[in-house]
Amino acid sequence: MKISRVQLFPVATPRQTGIANQHVIVQLEAGDSHVGWGEMSDLSHVPMYQFDIRELERMLNELLRGRDGRNIAKIEDDLIRFFPDEGHMYSRSGLVRQGIDLALHDLNARAQGAPVYHLLGGKLRDRMRVCYPIFRMRSVEEVPGNLERVEEKLAQGFDLIRVYVGANQGADEAFLGQFTDRFAGRVQIKSLDFSNLLDWRRAIMALERYQELCDFMLVESAAPRNDIEGLSQFRRRCKRPISEHVLHIHHGWQLLAAGAVDILNVSPYLLGGLRASLRLIALAEAARASVLIGTTQELSLGTAAVAHLAAAARVLDYPGDNTGPQLYTADVVKTPVAYEHSHLIVPDGPGLGLEVDEVKLAQMTASAEWTFGTDLAGVLDRTPTNRPSARQQ
Ligand code: MG
Ligand code: MG
Repeated sequence: MKISRVQLFPVATPRQTGIANQHVIVQLEAGDSHVGWGEMSDLSHVPMYQFDIRELERMLNELLRGRDGRNIAKIEDDLIRFFPDEGHMYSRSGLVRQGIDLALHDLNARAQGAPVYHLLGGKLRDRMRVCYPIFRMRSVEEVPGNLERVEEKLAQGFDLIRVYVGANQGADEAFLGQFTDRFAGRVQIKSLDFSNLLDWRRAIMALERYQELCDFMLVESAAPRNDIEGLSQFRRRCKRPISEHVLHIHHGWQLLAAGAVDILNVSPYLLGGLRASLRLIALAEAARASVLIGTTQELSLGTAAVAHLAAAARVLDYPGDNTGPQLYTADVVKTPVAYEHSHLIVPDGPGLGLEVDEVKLAQMTASAEWTFGTDLAGVLDRTPTNRPSARQQ
């Protein structure tokens, strides 16, 4: 099954909150008529540079054309050399490798008429519990809108949220206190996510207040980026499990060896696809640590890949974050991934289990407005452009 062509399709999809995110859809063609689809998810993060899409496409064709599409291991091994780990949260290398890894899995599984989880060894579960995000609040004026959002998502079956905290403690306390009054017993909090905003002492002090106001399963990113020692200090003083995003396999080992985490936040977008993610899950198993699957807000293709990973994961003991398709107002597939009662359902069709709507894809590509750099606060906070704190400026 020789790869004959790689095509990249840039798309921009608005979120319900207003901000638009950029993604690159990957199409691989191989053999007589085999096709595989993948996704480089959510490029609209700092560091602030974008791909030259045509140049990247030319490079990937150079690297992959004529190769045996069945040898995913060999292609991955080569791509790791050309697109090495960058060691930060929004690695372009990881996204390129994710796009190809997903498309290769889709291609091979489709050729076999089997779901991708078959290629990963089979499935242990057919759904994963997931949470809906409440993004960072910069002012108390954002609290009522976010409480309304919890109510709306609960009506759609989502009874689990994660809350990004640490930007404005007054707003956090107002939200968490009112959340408990209004939703206790009906909606749970998966995590309080400091997203590396505070040093570990400030995070401890903030957490002491938050834990008086609400119940939650775990705490994420409670020290600055790469401050593994600080995260270890935090973990020693916190009774709840600690998770952190894993940047690459050696980083996973560093976090575990330092006693800095209980849970590895494993994300295909960061690590470079499904194969790399499975290696991290094995690492967690070896350390008797836990795993959750994180997100950058993938479209349906990227989220379906996560569902197949969840299906095959030997260790997966906390809910995941993968509700991207619930945030976006448009997608490139005919039918998006399914959710039932706060669970992401593992697709059972061939490949990733989704059909790309090529007419819609062409329309979205033609109208892809690369809004990158036009709303910097939005890029950093993932909050709506009409948020009250933005209007005050
Ligand atoms: Mg996080
Ligand atoms: Mg993102």
